Amino acid sequence: MSGIRTTCAYCGVGCGISATVTGARSVEIRGDADHPANHGRLCSKGTHLGETTSLEGRLLHPMIGTKRAGWDKALDLVAKRFRDTIAEHGPNSVAFYVSGQLLTEDYYVANKLMKGFIGSANIDTNSRLCMSSAVAGHLRAFGEDVVPASYSDLDQADLVILVGSNTAWCHPVVYQRILAARAARGTRIVVIDPRRTETCEDADLHLAIRPGSDVALFNGLLAHCRDAGLLDEAYLSRSVDVPDDFWARQGEGSDLWSVARDCDVPPADLRRFFELFAAHPRTVTLFSQGVNQSLRGTDQVNAILNVHLATGRIGKPGAAPFSITGQPNAMGGREVGGLATTLAAHMDFAPENVARVGRFWGTPNVAAKPGLKAVDLFRSIGEGRIKALWIMATNPAVSMPDAGAVREALAACPFVVVSDCIADTDTTRLAHVTLPAAGWGEKDGTVTNSERVISRQRRLFDLPGEAMPDWWIIKEVGRRMGWVGEFAYSRPADIYREHARLSTYQNAGARRFDIGRHAAISNADYADMAPWRWGGEGFADGRFSTPNGRARLVPVAQAPLQAPLARWPMTLNTGRYRDQWHTMTRTGLSPRLSSHRREPMVEVHPLDATGLGIAEGDLARVATPQGESIFRATLSEGQRRGELFTPIHWTDRQSSGGRTGLLPRALVDPHSGQPGFKATPASVTRV
Ligand code: SF4
Repeated sequence: MSGIRTTCAYCGVGCGISATVTGARSVEIRGDADHPANHGRLCSKGTHLGETTSLEGRLLHPMIGTKRAGWDKALDLVAKRFRDTIAEHGPNSVAFYVSGQLLTEDYYVANKLMKGFIGSANIDTNSRLCMSSAVAGHLRAFGEDVVPASYSDLDQADLVILVGSNTAWCHPVVYQRILAARAARGTRIVVIDPRRTETCEDADLHLAIRPGSDVALFNGLLAHCRDAGLLDEAYLSRSVDVPDDFWARQGEGSDLWSVARDCDVPPADLRRFFELFAAHPRTVTLFSQGVNQSLRGTDQVNAILNVHLATGRIGKPGAAPFSITGQPNAMGGREVGGLATTLAAHMDFAPENVARVGRFWGTPNVAAKPGLKAVDLFRSIGEGRIKALWIMATNPAVSMPDAGAVREALAACPFVVVSDCIADTDTTRLAHVTLPAAGWGEKDGTVTNSERVISRQRRLFDLPGEAMPDWWIIKEVGRRMGWVGEFAYSRPADIYREHARLSTYQNAGARRFDIGRHAAISNADYADMAPWRWGGEGFADGRFSTPNGRARLVPVAQAPLQAPLARWPMTLNTGRYRDQWHTMTRTGLSPRLSSHRREPMVEVHPLDATGLGIAEGDLARVATPQGESIFRATLSEGQRRGELFTPIHWTDRQSSGGRTGLLPRALVDPHSGQPGFKATPASVTRV
């Protein structure tokens, strides 16, 4: 029996799956050999999806408080409370907080309801926590949020630089692809990461830089390229604007010795990195949360983009900067405007865009300015300015920085709605209304992966209990708020077609959207849609989306590096385990996945541990200015001295300790609003 072609539920690699349904809730999973992202490969999480499709822990019925309610009653209540709040306090007193787990169709309807009809842009997403610094960096350099790379560039590169990315664990199929290219053509691999992770095992070079010194490193590389005559002067003159004072501002402190000192790496290793870069023009720099989740994330992104633009390593096979996303549909959310800082279809809030979207949606009410980004949004809830909140498919009581304060804010918010497929999460415990949403394998729609391939997720099982797809729940609330005709969708294909039309309406959307392909989508095409990549080859023509068609070098300077504080002498870094996903609501159901790491551990360098009297297996309290939690200690030579690492996955549901979300400060990058999870002042003591 041939399988149903669908897409993995987890990371931004976006692997295609061939699913063979074998029972009411059982399915055999294979990699889709024809999918361009994975060519049949899957990692452990994708392979074991079939172990996670039971109904254990599912939210199956609408609930008002702790009482089961019918859909009509629950939806009427949600619509009424939002309507009443808006009438009394204005449209900016309500907010949606959504998720890269939503399908593009769900995202589109949520964005349309909030920005088009409620008239506020207070809709932000957990993608803010993942890659919004890459978005801000792309906008500054390219004039558009376009990732100018594809996975095939990894097949053709001679040098792959992995920055702030434990690719082997967090994007395993991309990593397998890099290793396959290495076996075939000798691709060199450089890993830049304060930790010695599993990704370093196959690397030619690992630079364990001081956390937050990325700008110093890439500015140093750029200075070296200039001194060594590696700049692509023809490309710069044809395609890139260079501010008059750019080189003067970049030059200071960018000699090899200064950079080695700032980054705390051996000068010989740094020289080797520069030499590898010089010797291999086909370079892909793949970066991830280690770059983005920083208080200087956007500058770090632009430091990387500057090097690629100045050396002409962009828009050519095997040469590109490549921001790889964490979630399955962070890119789809970006396409429809699911961030508080974009309007719709890659448009910003310029008055002509607001008018254009208003004409298209048939509403005079379109939000005219950006809304609150995630950290500010939850802060506003705590301050009582947001009085009604709808959270969709995410668990901010665990995942936001300073999660303790987020939890207090939610507890004090007059009206909290949560739609989710899981009944008991740290966030549903704080909801006034919980709405049962369809989960992976129960809904139809599209997702866009890190390389901008749009793929279908397809329904494999009947909807359990009274669960409904997110797009249906949102449009039903919209209709009950009075916009009946505007939310008259009967299936996801209706929404996709409207999204495609808006993307092309009066050239509204991204210049590189494949207008013909989108416009041709009909219901039948949607049902059979094969994975396809929108946007062509990123900037192959040397034209960018700025008003003059030229990219920009953005001057960025290394911010002063944080010295250890007496009370907080350590620096805490956070991240993922190989076999778990986010807050483990799905992967935690799989016995095989759970056997990889059974409990949350704090990794400590052995010499630090000796000094602190901590032995392998001890319980250790990690404390920061924000909060504290207890972890099992494990000693790791992969840690730099003075640094700690904890995993993000564990919640109150699974454990009384291991709560990493309580530890980071609610501080953000000034350009993107992305929180800096990667370098929190901390202490660790034996319990
Ligand atoms: Fe799923 Fe990501 Fe693994 Fe692919 S690499 S199977 S998308 S978790």
